[in-house]
Amino acid sequence: MSLSYLAKTIAESPTLRLNEEARLLRERGEQVIHLGIGEPKNKAPINAILNSAAKLNTGDIKYSPTDGVPSLKKAIIRYTEENYNRVVEPENVIVSSGAKQAIYNILYSLVNPQDEVIVLAPYWVSYPEIVKMVYGVPVVVVPEDGSLHPRMEDITRSISPSTKAIIVNSPNNPSGLVFSENFIAQIVQYCEEKGIYLIMDDIYHKLVFNGKKAVSCYDFTRKGIEESRLVLVNGISKLYGMTGFRIGWTIGSRKLVEVMTNIQAQTTSCASVVLQAAAEGALTGIQSIVENLRLTIENNRNIMMQELKSFNGVKTTEPDGTFYCFPDFRSYTQNSVELSEFLLRKALVVTVPGKEFGMEGYLRLSYAGSVKDITEGIARMKWALDPDSPNEIYIGDKKMVRDWL
Ligand code: PMP
Repeated sequence: MSLSYLAKTIAESPTLRLNEEARLLRERGEQVIHLGIGEPKNKAPINAILNSAAKLNTGDIKYSPTDGVPSLKKAIIRYTEENYNRVVEPENVIVSSGAKQAIYNILYSLVNPQDEVIVLAPYWVSYPEIVKMVYGVPVVVVPEDGSLHPRMEDITRSISPSTKAIIVNSPNNPSGLVFSENFIAQIVQYCEEKGIYLIMDDIYHKLVFNGKKAVSCYDFTRKGIEESRLVLVNGISKLYGMTGFRIGWTIGSRKLVEVMTNIQAQTTSCASVVLQAAAEGALTGIQSIVENLRLTIENNRNIMMQELKSFNGVKTTEPDGTFYCFPDFRSYTQNSVELSEFLLRKALVVTVPGKEFGMEGYLRLSYAGSVKDITEGIARMKWALDPDSPNEIYIGDKKMVRDWL
């Protein structure tokens, strides 16, 4: 087979691969605990279900305008006003099939071959791959102080005349950190001064804890949306637990949205009208669902932190949001892929290696699942890694024998 050079360089999505691995093991009857999962367990909001069912019942299921159904765009405009204090026009909004497609279309619209896009480690696994898919060059910036929070001095050192855009994701997948107000203010001002596009991936922006608030990037720009180089990405996947509905959106200048619309028109035409109806239901329906989900996840986070505190040798930075944490396992090994495979084999616990997020020696653990999964998952990991633990345990009726990774 003669596949394209580019296609061959694009890595498989490690998180989707792990989901598949966990599913296959479960199908074989193995009692796998999935701490790699990137979605909450809730049922879809009732308003989303009713609205999409009503749309289906009309039998009128056709193409929508490429940039989205007008009534959904209206709901997105209201959402942006309520949550970001920014009034935008319908021409500033485009609906896509998930935030992932939105990010792909944004980068496709902005990046020339060999343009550089700054990606802040630890980063969401897909950013570097999407940058490569549009013939750009991902430039990974790691915080030099050994923390998980990005620093302006590290970023400015990595800027070159080819820098086209910076992607910022706060609350952050995988660290769970909400970036400081000071950092967001500085990066917005820096990008505006230098004419660099700043792509804010705000997909987790309401999933924050301890009364914290993820700040709005618009608070720090004096420019109007047409002159500004701020591009905002959002969606329903995480806040409403609607990952399977595949709806996300972008807020940007008219010119950017126009070009993104052309790209979408030539690739997917539009997001499905049934799923757009679901998204509209979620955005205009009962909003306590988001707060209830947030409270459940905050409680899970507290339990996860409690369990990790008594994990010998593991260092944890407490997450302020999302449903992930990113503990440091370097006192056990630098090789996160080997560690993750070891934990799956020995303890039947799925974790995601830090290497996939640009940081070796860490693991991403999710607390989106049940409390039982969290407590039992961490207990199994402790058993597998602690040299003083018993040699054998039973998981269900399967005998697990401990040895070193
Ligand atoms: N951005 C980040 C940071 C994410 O974690 C995810 C989902 N894992 C996405 C974007 C994609 O979201 P969607 O399901 O809307 O494509």
